[in-house]
Amino acid sequence: MTQAGFDSQRRRLIKLLGAAAATIGGVAGHAEAAPAFAASPFQLGVASGSPAADGFVLWTRLIGDGASGASVPVQWEVRDGGGAGAVVASGTANALAALGYAVHVEVNGLAAGRQYGYRFKAGGFESAPALARTLPDAQQAVAGARLRLAYASCQRWEDGQYAAYRHMLAEKIDFVVFVGDYIYEGKSRDAGEAVRVHPLKRIRDLDDYRRRYALYKSDPALQAMHAACPWLVTWDDHEVENNYSGALSTRGTANFERLRMAAYQAFYEHMPLRASTMIDGLRGLQRGAELRIYQHYDFGKLARLYLLDDRQYRARPPCGDKPKEALAAVCGGAEPDRSMFGAAQEAWLADAMGEGAARGARWNLLVQQTRLTPANYRYGPGVKAADDHWDAYPQARRRLLDAIRSKRPANPLILGGDVHLNWVANVHLDPYDVRSPLIASEFCGTSITSRNEGSQKKAEKHQDDNPHCLLVNKAKRGYGVLELSAEQAVVRLRVLDDVARLDSGIATLASFKVLNGQPGPKQLS
Ligand code: FE
Ligand code: CA
Repeated sequence: MTQAGFDSQRRRLIKLLGAAAATIGGVAGHAEAAPAFAASPFQLGVASGSPAADGFVLWTRLIGDGASGASVPVQWEVRDGGGAGAVVASGTANALAALGYAVHVEVNGLAAGRQYGYRFKAGGFESAPALARTLPDAQQAVAGARLRLAYASCQRWEDGQYAAYRHMLAEKIDFVVFVGDYIYEGKSRDAGEAVRVHPLKRIRDLDDYRRRYALYKSDPALQAMHAACPWLVTWDDHEVENNYSGALSTRGTANFERLRMAAYQAFYEHMPLRASTMIDGLRGLQRGAELRIYQHYDFGKLARLYLLDDRQYRARPPCGDKPKEALAAVCGGAEPDRSMFGAAQEAWLADAMGEGAARGARWNLLVQQTRLTPANYRYGPGVKAADDHWDAYPQARRRLLDAIRSKRPANPLILGGDVHLNWVANVHLDPYDVRSPLIASEFCGTSITSRNEGSQKKAEKHQDDNPHCLLVNKAKRGYGVLELSAEQAVVRLRVLDDVARLDSGIATLASFKVLNGQPGPKQLS
């Protein structure tokens, strides 16, 4: 981008964030008067998500002076087909001040396996037209069925342009699966270090989180991808704070529980989630109740997807040899029950995988945050473990692998993010013994933009130390495309030429296939 381009983007951004701040500061009152917006209140775009066979959630959040009072009425409509068809559902929703003027419409009564158009109207403005789709009928046969997903994670604003989404848009994706680090909570890197600098300070409260989402969601490439199809979203750590663990800050943040509550509310406000994710509604959320985002989705009989949460309920990390002071205050010894998912989610997942097997789901996608297989194979369990990953939770990993083995969901594929690199691996029943049964395939990363400082040379040494690992690449940013059919899963690792350029080209770093009934990725190119 040219300097003039940077300057105009920066001016636009400062104006937008000013508007977001004005919205947040709105005085509570009554909303009888028609809202008056000087500019479109839809500057954060729209989104769909949480799909079902008969509907989905439609999302937007109003920005601007007209977003004031206790609530603002927002009209919505859903049209058949690509948006040019007849209106099949419509209504008025209230954008509530208490939720930052976010709107979540739960549409139902639609036909299965179908694309729909939708848009919102408020204050005389219309949102850009957008597309959503329903899940296939739960009984849809495997034969002839096809599904194309993109998986993505880690989109630190200042580390790059969102060229990845520009290319994803051209791939005719049915659903996007986002596996965490949608925002980053820190202040911007400095100008010399950043591809694009933002003016926001480190996040401290709900208003800060709202401004941060407003910044990220102001990006046109990200907006366009949200408008193209439903997203299934889970989070990782940076939606709250780096490397947090359940209710614990590992950097010693005072009043961390309050910060986490604000973060979870902001996540709800900005994602196309169902109201049922809030246990006991907004009041529950504001009292520290869980935001239950783990869920499963059935794509006919072709696939069952388990969207998992390994942050909210995870046990404290172990102590390494020389823990930093803040970490030392919260880390513990090697308890045998150290959990990543928490007991309730672990039990739920085991049951759901058993159901998946019973209903004959051909592919079973375990969608979680981070790399599952060891990065420390050579050293063994508990040694040289990164505090924040599955390597630090070997008992929990073992329970997960045992559950896959005993519940027998067909063709398990593990998707993840977090590590800012492409990692493709064989998943063995004993992750520290590649002679043990091969039970699943792992595809982790890379990041949309977030940087990886490690050298590729070191990465290759890493691969040599981990015989289950088939590919590791730290150098490239991008996303993965997963195409499922009855016979095979094909994964293409799509990587940008240059994350600093919005007009960057894209290439396929490598492709893999997994054949029905034969666990383990096989490289195609
Ligand atoms: Fe990240
Ligand atoms: Ca992370």
